[in-house]
Amino acid sequence: MNQTELSIHRFTLAVAWSISILITILVPAAYFFISYQHLRSELIVQSALSANDVTDLVKSNSALWRYEELRLSEMLEQRSKSSVAESRIIYDTNRAVIASNTSAVPLAHISQTHDIYDAGVVIASIEISRTLKPLLFGTLLVALCSAAIAAVIFFTLRTLPRRSIKKAFQALREKRKKYRSLHETMKEGMAEHRVTFGDDGELKSFIIIDANSSCADMFGCSRQELIGSNSLTQFGTSFREYLPELLQVFEHGNSTTFELALPGKGTFYMTTAYSQTPGIITTLFEDITERKKSELQIRRMAYSDQLTTLPNRTLLLDRLNQAVANATQNGITLAVFFLDLDRFKIFNDTMGRATGDQLLIEVGRRLQRQIRCSDTLARMGGDEFCFVATNPSKILNSTYIAQKFIDSMLTPFWIGSNKLHVSTSIGIAVFPDDGIDAETLIKNAELAMYSAKEAGRDMYNYYSPEMNQKAHIRMELENGLRNALERGEFFLEFQPIMNAENRTVAAAEALVRWNHPTRGRIPPNEFIPLAEETGLILPLGEWVLRTVCSNMKTWNDAGLPQIRLSVNVSSRQVEQQNFAQIVRNVLNATGANAAQLEIELTESCLVNHTSTNLAEVFDLRNLGISIAIDDFGTGYSSLGYIKTLPIDHIKIDRSFVTDISSNIQDQAIVEAIITMSQKLGIQNIAEGVETLEQLEFLQEQGCNEIQGYYFHRPLSVDALETLLRTQAELQAG
Ligand code: C2E
Ligand code: CA
Ligand code: CA
Repeated sequence: MNQTELSIHRFTLAVAWSISILITILVPAAYFFISYQHLRSELIVQSALSANDVTDLVKSNSALWRYEELRLSEMLEQRSKSSVAESRIIYDTNRAVIASNTSAVPLAHISQTHDIYDAGVVIASIEISRTLKPLLFGTLLVALCSAAIAAVIFFTLRTLPRRSIKKAFQALREKRKKYRSLHETMKEGMAEHRVTFGDDGELKSFIIIDANSSCADMFGCSRQELIGSNSLTQFGTSFREYLPELLQVFEHGNSTTFELALPGKGTFYMTTAYSQTPGIITTLFEDITERKKSELQIRRMAYSDQLTTLPNRTLLLDRLNQAVANATQNGITLAVFFLDLDRFKIFNDTMGRATGDQLLIEVGRRLQRQIRCSDTLARMGGDEFCFVATNPSKILNSTYIAQKFIDSMLTPFWIGSNKLHVSTSIGIAVFPDDGIDAETLIKNAELAMYSAKEAGRDMYNYYSPEMNQKAHIRMELENGLRNALERGEFFLEFQPIMNAENRTVAAAEALVRWNHPTRGRIPPNEFIPLAEETGLILPLGEWVLRTVCSNMKTWNDAGLPQIRLSVNVSSRQVEQQNFAQIVRNVLNATGANAAQLEIELTESCLVNHTSTNLAEVFDLRNLGISIAIDDFGTGYSSLGYIKTLPIDHIKIDRSFVTDISSNIQDQAIVEAIITMSQKLGIQNIAEGVETLEQLEFLQEQGCNEIQGYYFHRPLSVDALETLLRTQAELQAG
């Protein structure tokens, strides 16, 4: 039973008692009083009547009346007709009894006296006393009845309301219980606050008056600690920040919702506040920490590079846009640096991706050490980084910054047990001369970086408008390249490769040419790298292979000497999953002789010599196809592959041959290559032989085959055919 219930209970009890007691007392008392008055009136009348009787007697005999005792007694007896005990006594003026009736009355009685006159003078008095027994008895009866009635009334008043009150309270308790269990089991934290204001309308207190266990758990304390404490300190300082919103729910009667962050705990709550009772605010807290965390994670992922954790391109663009706006307004100097690692692809291919990734992380770290933390260094993807430098003063020493980046690469990187020498090429675009928006500045810095690469790598270069022109031409070329194959703009030339001893044509290398509709003949050195970048090298390479094979078939069918025909294959083609299969298909489709086909691979293609793709290419040797290493000596790679891979020909790069007659180093290199190939049983071919001296030196060293302008420039299909025919005739003749 709670306090309210107890007081209601006490109240009904008091009412019941009061009514019952009043009934029990008042009813008999009233009965007694009324009956008593009635009796009294009767006695007054009786005493007056008897006094009259005596007065009559006095009048008849005023001297002796008092001696007629008998007659008086009789008279008194006659009058007293009451069935109850009643005494009638006549007293003289001295209170001496003159006459009386026979009855005696008990102690409890009522008396009434009436004076008897003679000639206006009181000569005696008559006193009538009647017993109160019947009255008392009646009163007692009435009292008993009243008590019985009071008892009934008491019982009714006591039990009936009590029962309904109990019922009402029971219902209330059940409701509360339900509410409480809901309150307790709900996932959301819930707290009730009492808000009080001073006379001046200022906030006086904001106290927690109730809270469920979820709420206590959320704020890391017990319910007891919460209840009674100040809401504005208990729920963190950020709760206080929302005080205006919280107080608005009183003014407008609606609810308010806000995100509450507890920075110390790293938790977030969606908070809804409403008020249904004046002065009370209820707050519901929904824990949204997980959701917030994943949102943050997504945002972080959207703005940072997963590998290096540096800002990514999106964030860089954002910051650069801000920096540009700032620079425009405040005349701050601003420069964009575009960095690209030199020959990163080789590291990635030779050491594996994991090492490449680790190298990128380390490079990122090292570059970051060169900059102020207010500046942004981002990874743009691959091995490209971009840095935005700003300086509030008008002077920005971009040359110094670029040199610092270049110097920071001087110390080799240790990745696992590998010591890697890395350098970077940097392009610089300065605001506003080289661009007035973020996109242009980045694009132009990138162009400047390309020109730094072309100029020999490991250096920086400032943007100049001509670079843009070059880039434009490149873009045009790229677009033209996409349609060149279907428009039939490519054709082949074949450069004969001569037997060094008998100087007959031993082989011919197929070299692709592009006949551009407006620009005329474009050399392969200009479009092959572009085709490799864009992936167009795959259909183009297949076209070359197919054309070479069908030419071979035609020449063989015509009975021309069956020379070797070599085809340049780019590493992009070898990386292609089904390259070996493509070769097989082409051979089958054209009916060419596999034993006459040679594939020229560059060293960079062989560095990852454990790859399955490469193994499949070497498997083609089982068909009779031979394999040559092109541009030997320029691949910056270790020569390990030469021992493990079955290579048929080594092509000594033209750069060693050019100065062979005068340069002793080149002589030494060529000598070494020839000796090595002989020891390994690999045939060698010298490229770019233009003079007799070069030829003689190579012949002395024991070079097997010679390719170069000295004998033949690349020939058209017809010219080669004629050459082969002449040779056949000569041999026959
Ligand atoms: P490469 O494979 O080293 O081809 C030899 C290049 O040296 C040819 O240049 C040829 O014309 C040139 N050359 C030959 N003898 C001499 C000489 O005595 N003096 C001088 N100065 N040059 C000589 P070209 O035709 O411009 O080809 C350049 C490169 O383009 C080739 O170098 C090759 O890497 C690539 N290439 C050509 N055709 C194809 C092809 O069908 N596929 C692929 N992937 N690359 C090709
Ligand atoms: Ca070649
Ligand atoms: Ca070559």
